[in-house]
Amino acid sequence: MELLTTLVDKGLRGQSPTRQEALAVLATSDDELLDVVAAAGKVRRKWFGRRVKLNYLVNLKSGLCPEDCSYCSQRLGSKAEILAYSWLKPHEAAAAAEAGTEGGAKRVCLVASGRGPTDRDVERVVGTIEAIKERSPDVEICACLGLLSERQAARLREAGVHAYNHNLNTSEGEYGKICTTHGFADRVDTVLRSRGAGMSACSGLIAGMGESDADLVDVVLTLRELDVDSVPVNFLIPFQGTPLSQTWELTPQRCLRILAMVRFVCPDVEVRLAGGREIHLRGLQPLALHIVNSIFLGDYLTSEGQPGSADLEMIKDAGFVVEEPGSATLPEHRGAASPAQPERRGDAPAAGPARTDLVALRRRGAGTDLAPNA
Ligand code: SF4
Repeated sequence: MELLTTLVDKGLRGQSPTRQEALAVLATSDDELLDVVAAAGKVRRKWFGRRVKLNYLVNLKSGLCPEDCSYCSQRLGSKAEILAYSWLKPHEAAAAAEAGTEGGAKRVCLVASGRGPTDRDVERVVGTIEAIKERSPDVEICACLGLLSERQAARLREAGVHAYNHNLNTSEGEYGKICTTHGFADRVDTVLRSRGAGMSACSGLIAGMGESDADLVDVVLTLRELDVDSVPVNFLIPFQGTPLSQTWELTPQRCLRILAMVRFVCPDVEVRLAGGREIHLRGLQPLALHIVNSIFLGDYLTSEGQPGSADLEMIKDAGFVVEEPGSATLPEHRGAASPAQPERRGDAPAAGPARTDLVALRRRGAGTDLAPNA
């Protein structure tokens, strides 16, 4: 396919495709799927070899959010029966983080529900970071606390936060449909502020919320323009009790096409397979490792993933290796150091009825008496 030759040529040079070329990836057929994965794999191996970076989520504060993001189980008015708790104590968060690092995670992502932190919340997180670094000195810390002021961003950087995650989630044009309590521009501002403070910018998307191919391409092109270092790609987990509980429009094949499009647009950037991979990619998860260079280990914020041991086995069986702590993830030229209902395409099968039986609410790990799954 001429398209794939062009995309690989550009990707190996670190260049992004045009908008039309990115859209064409999403329009490829199932007959072309393995060729698309192989082409994206060439770009992946050029910049990241066969390494897989493992990330581990610690939910510092769960549920009870005043915002109304329609995809989120923690949103205002959510009837999802998730765990809800206020801030974990530093030693509890450090113990949870250690479970992740012992399982092979290189980065720990400290997440708190809410519009954004107060200055007091930021100080709490600083205390938690100190406790984590005492037990796991080499771990990369990523914070994900919502909308951030410049001063808060500077404080987090000073405390040793390596990266800040704030997802754009969907295109600017679609944003008003998934959230009314804050806007796309607020999210962009926080991404820019975190980067301005010297943190590595992590920002991604959620696919499967009713967006078009053009929306998916637009949000990824925006992330490329913002020059983020890592792009988590989530596939909607349709939680019961949220407005999108019956939205089930992804197939494993479409998920692979989306991941490939993201890899081509962001060839030299960490592309992370994030929430929803187990329920949407199912048996095709190992193929996705040929495209992404990063995954979450174990459970997600409010839902259960497959056991961490199954993740490690999958990586090994697919011929990949877990990235070592202390090593650089990104290519040298990126300069980021290690720490201190869419149209159906091609002949892809229809997504079928909602498979909410595949969604297991998290009942273990941080905020519970049960051991984490890592
Ligand atoms: S701000 Fe965050 S926690 Fe709150 S509803 Fe939106 S995504 Fe969920």
